[in-house]
Amino acid sequence: KSHKKPKEIELNESLNKFYIDRLLNLPSYHKVWEFLKNRNINKDTAEEFEFGYSTGEEIEKVLEDTLIEKEIAVNSGLIKNDRDFFNGRLIIPIRDNNSSLVGFAGRLIENVNSPKYINSQENKYFKKSKILYMYHKTKSIIQKNDFAIITEGYFDAISMYKMGFKNIVAVLGSNLTKDHAFELFKSTNKIITMFDMDKAGEKATISSIDLLFEKGFQVAVANYDAKDPDELTKKHDKKYIAEILKKSYKFHEYIVDVKAKDYDLKNEFAVEEYLKEMAIWYKKIQQSNRFEIMEVFSEKISEKIDREKDFVKKVLIELSK
Ligand code: ATP
Ligand code: MN
Ligand code: MN
Ligand code: MN
Repeated sequence: KSHKKPKEIELNESLNKFYIDRLLNLPSYHKVWEFLKNRNINKDTAEEFEFGYSTGEEIEKVLEDTLIEKEIAVNSGLIKNDRDFFNGRLIIPIRDNNSSLVGFAGRLIENVNSPKYINSQENKYFKKSKILYMYHKTKSIIQKNDFAIITEGYFDAISMYKMGFKNIVAVLGSNLTKDHAFELFKSTNKIITMFDMDKAGEKATISSIDLLFEKGFQVAVANYDAKDPDELTKKHDKKYIAEILKKSYKFHEYIVDVKAKDYDLKNEFAVEEYLKEMAIWYKKIQQSNRFEIMEVFSEKISEKIDREKDFVKKVLIELSK
């Protein structure tokens, strides 16, 4: 096995040095520093997370410097239409779970009509379905605390980390996958999901807890009064957020509540449909042999629909056959 770095990684590393250098040499009144200031990111934090900035010229210089073929840059999505793909954006480097610099995210720093985030092109090394942002840095802390918090975005993970919740990771805008779960399981079997408090975040939460539960994790869901964790850390102090985490929903209680919103539970037929959906989860819980959860789950549903617990259990057993 060769120990020489792949050219793709080498290129990313060299390029990142240029991006970092560029950012650090821009004056504090530059719009990228304005952007960072608005997000409570100071120079130290920008340096800690290796942030950079692209003015569009960096890639050409790096190619000259390193003699790496332009083709590699094109195939990594670093050059598009003959210019630096990340031109004018804040650069967030993305390391894989073993700390290799496998790709970048570029964030807009102004309100213009263009995607808020763009990424390097996926390749053999950069696979969003396998990488968790910050995991390379936080996995030992996750191991020590024996639980992980999962967020949606780069700034969510960074803000929480800065506040002292260092057992944090973020998915790269995609869903949590089996590969992510497999990686996390090496460090802990306890997870708190902390996705955005909008419809997309809710969908991500449900699909994540489905997957995590099946893999044998203990899952809880943070419920909080902000649009995402980044905003939450701007609104509240550490003590408050620690309390939020402590009061996280158990996943089965979350399912009972979140799915209830889709049904008019004053209507008999809607209750039946709701119970059908709950029976699917009842079966999942049963198949995982977590019988104590089945009890609490039925109890919670019985409160929700205002029926006897024994009745609810009977229906769930019937429907889940
Ligand atoms: P910010 O706080 O910078 O506005 P966010 O993290 O709150 O961003 P969301 O819209 O909640 O952004 O999206 C969550 C995550 O999804 C982002 O952090 C990013 O990883 C990813 N993402 C969002 N939009 C895009 C996009 N257009 N292309 C690629 N990834 C995206
Ligand atoms: Mn979101
Ligand atoms: Mn968000
Ligand atoms: Mn945000």
